Amino acid sequence: MQKIALLYEASQAVLSTLDLDEVLRQILAIAREHFDLRNVLIFLVDSEKNELWVRSQIGCDVDSEKMRVPLGCGITGAAALVKKPVYVPDVSKEPNYIKSFEKTRSEVAIPMIVRGEVIGILDCQSENLDHFNPEIIGLLQLFATQASMALQNARLYSLERRRTSQLEAIAAIAQQTTAVLDIEQLLGKVCPLIRQSFHVAHVSVLLKDGEDLILRAQSGELTPRASLGNRFRCCDGDWGKSLAGGETLIQNDVHEADIYHETRSRLGIPLISFGQTFGVLVLHSDAPGAFQSTDVPPLESVADICATAIQNANYVERVKQLAYRDGLTGIFNRRFFELRMSEELERAKRYSAGMAIIMVDIDRFKNLNDEFGHMLGDEVLRQVSSILHDQLRKFDVVCRYGGEEFAVLLSQTNPQHAVGVAQKLRGLVENWQFPGLPRSVTISAGVATYPENGIERDGLMKAADASLYAAKQAGRNRVMLAPGEKKEADKEKKGKSSKKAHAQGNG
Ligand code: GH3
Ligand code: MG
Ligand code: MG
Repeated sequence: MQKIALLYEASQAVLSTLDLDEVLRQILAIAREHFDLRNVLIFLVDSEKNELWVRSQIGCDVDSEKMRVPLGCGITGAAALVKKPVYVPDVSKEPNYIKSFEKTRSEVAIPMIVRGEVIGILDCQSENLDHFNPEIIGLLQLFATQASMALQNARLYSLERRRTSQLEAIAAIAQQTTAVLDIEQLLGKVCPLIRQSFHVAHVSVLLKDGEDLILRAQSGELTPRASLGNRFRCCDGDWGKSLAGGETLIQNDVHEADIYHETRSRLGIPLISFGQTFGVLVLHSDAPGAFQSTDVPPLESVADICATAIQNANYVERVKQLAYRDGLTGIFNRRFFELRMSEELERAKRYSAGMAIIMVDIDRFKNLNDEFGHMLGDEVLRQVSSILHDQLRKFDVVCRYGGEEFAVLLSQTNPQHAVGVAQKLRGLVENWQFPGLPRSVTISAGVATYPENGIERDGLMKAADASLYAAKQAGRNRVMLAPGEKKEADKEKKGKSSKKAHAQGNG
């Protein structure tokens, strides 16, 4: 009777705390002390895997943390299945006994039950043979009932606390991301925020590009195998299915590393906007089994917030693009050209580099329109744009300056090279077969260079314009270089090639 009273008191103490680890520690300590035990372990049920795993232990001299027992196996597994205590008075005589600890002679496994469900096992081990009599087992059962309640309360409380902190994290992420309209800045912010809020090793954002996913942002402590901008196939395997169906994917047993060397678990949530999956938010852990289905709803909310923010930023980007693009041809417009020219001049001055501009104008375009119609005229404009665009280097700029006039900016270029480029473009257009057009189209071009023809934007444009005018005057379908201050070395060459540069007729 006295024992029951003591036990009851102890149980009340356990029930009064809501700290999960403290509850577990107390259950183990009380059981060990009151029942004079060698080892006490608390197994919890992993219902996804139908296994028991060791959540806490006292007295065990070996590492029991990795111990997992399938339901039905051994005496703990059996107790979980039959929902009744299973007692082995002499472990050496029990064929089903799974031996884990050298000194254990007798053992009883008591199921911890809440509302008819086994949530775990209180496993009590003694160094004595037949240490447990029915009375002790009855008391342990009583204690296990109280302990189960305490355990369940603490678990619910910690779940609730986790949920609260996740809700706070979601609010913080929403607050900090929705106002950011620059896509790179936004992605740079999202990953560390999620990593901190959800306590994972690594977070990455991959965005779709055709059939591929591109790694656009990442933050964390795992070792990257891939760098930003790397592409991954997304159409096959589990990822393909998950993305196509817009469904979250948990992989808790990853063996092949793709983005990070140490990844053992992954949680991938599709980024969806207006029913279209346009990317995926991936959380990575270096521990297997790191993600549970309960992690999914809060993270899906986060993914939705991110998806909206990314789409907003994309939209702003597109509007910006529209402001700098020509509607008919899709190449840059005059506004963009002027902006880039100012930047390029700054750069040229800082690094004492050269640069050139070419003004291009289609010859007798009005006649072409009159003869073959405006529609065909439009098509010629589009095709000339493509010819110019495709011939130039990535860092050169081609724009439609207005009407049938184009401007080209060549960085780090000298006058001779610029004239060569202009000649090449002129030749290409002249020889181009425009569909539906029975004759050739020609262009005239005026070239001006920094620093020879000017050191400011307006001066350079004026010089190029004047050369273009001269090319028209000289008969069209030709390239003219603006006359300018020449260095000594160039002057020598000029003797031989000035005719070529100033009257670069048909080739
Ligand atoms: P030049 O050799 O002296 O440059 O003669 P041109 O006929 O090309 O020059 P002009 O400036 O007289 O005429 C330009 C023509 O370009 C007139 C205009 O109708 C046409 N044009 C301007 N923008 C467009 C456009 O977007 N589409 C079409 N189809 N034609 C356009
Ligand atoms: Mg013209
Ligand atoms: Mg014109």
